[in-house]
Amino acid sequence: MKLHEYQAKRIFAQHGVPIPKGEVATTATQAREIAQRLGGAVVIKSQVLVGGRGKAGGIKLAKTPDEAEAMADHILGMTIRDFKVRRVLVDQAADISEEIYLGMIVDRGRRRVVMMASSEGGVDIEEVATTNPEAIKTIAIDPYLGLRSYQTIGVASSIGIPQEQFRNFNRIAFGLYKAFTASDAELAEINPLVVTASGDLLAVDGKMVLDDSALFRQVALEEMRDLDEEAPAETEARINGLSYVKLDGEIGCMVNGAGLAMATMDIVEHFGGEPANFLDIGGGAKSDKVAAALRIILSDPNVKAVLFNIFGGITRCDEVARGILVALEEVQPQAPMVARLVGTNEVEGRAILAEANMATAATLAEAAQKAVAAAQGETL
Ligand code: GDP
Ligand code: MN
Repeated sequence: MKLHEYQAKRIFAQHGVPIPKGEVATTATQAREIAQRLGGAVVIKSQVLVGGRGKAGGIKLAKTPDEAEAMADHILGMTIRDFKVRRVLVDQAADISEEIYLGMIVDRGRRRVVMMASSEGGVDIEEVATTNPEAIKTIAIDPYLGLRSYQTIGVASSIGIPQEQFRNFNRIAFGLYKAFTASDAELAEINPLVVTASGDLLAVDGKMVLDDSALFRQVALEEMRDLDEEAPAETEARINGLSYVKLDGEIGCMVNGAGLAMATMDIVEHFGGEPANFLDIGGGAKSDKVAAALRIILSDPNVKAVLFNIFGGITRCDEVARGILVALEEVQPQAPMVARLVGTNEVEGRAILAEANMATAATLAEAAQKAVAAAQGETL
């Protein structure tokens, strides 16, 4: 789950990272009032869950409350990479002399949280990684020892931070690491961490991605979720405990088990089709979950055929078949469907589907071929 800049920065601040004073506005009038309260120049920042807002024109400096209102009015109407701007953060403007990058991620290969820092801040870090990789310093953090000051000081000196700022940088790196671990984050990033004209360090931007699997114990953070920024199908999948990833193809796939779902996608491609999604209904899914899954698949206008591939182990084939019927009644789909059900209660499952005139197949290859043919307009 991604957090907005203002949310990430508040969490950073709770752990001792200095951030500019600022407030969130949903209207231009509010932005003006905030600018008035803050006094002096402000920066109006679109709050959308994508990077590169600056380049897209979603970040503007305003010298007066009048300007703040006009800028906010302009930015609140924008769409940045398909995300409608509904909120702006009005921050006291920083007087920037240098922009640094400081981030932390979970590096699965190294099985460590890795801290990354670069003097080339403010720009897209992926770009720095390809054009100037030596400019990025990384250190792996031992999970038992935690971050050590010699590591942060080493990084600070290697990216050219002035010595009188080492102590501050150390405090910020520790704060970011605490924010990272306390929030069960996968990524926490300050880009840019700026050196101001007066020589202070300040986190001007903030980004956080939380580990979805840990949200059960991060109730306060889960409440920060912005449903406006989530596709409706993703929301429904999450609420129903389904793993769903939308893709660009035309064959909707409903499968139980992640490995089986991937194998199903491969075989669809093998027979000349393109999967419209990855969808794992999980083990032991009952009919309501199956119905939700089918609704999600059919809400994608690209779907021309649906392939069910169910291996009945804990999941019972008759439960799935009943779920399919419930969903069919609810959504009355036009798309043709083919089902391959094997395992626990497969005979009952197939009989239920046969009564509803749904095409079934004995093997996955046959099912995939039928689905591909159906998507190309052949009748099953
Ligand atoms: P992003 O483009 O989505 O990463 O948004 P950022 O918050 O990182 O802002 C992009 C750029 O705008 C920064 O790298 C800065 O150069 C500039 N910027 C952001 N806030 C301020 C500010 O308070 N003062 C000044 N002068 N520039 C700012
Ligand atoms: Mn940034």
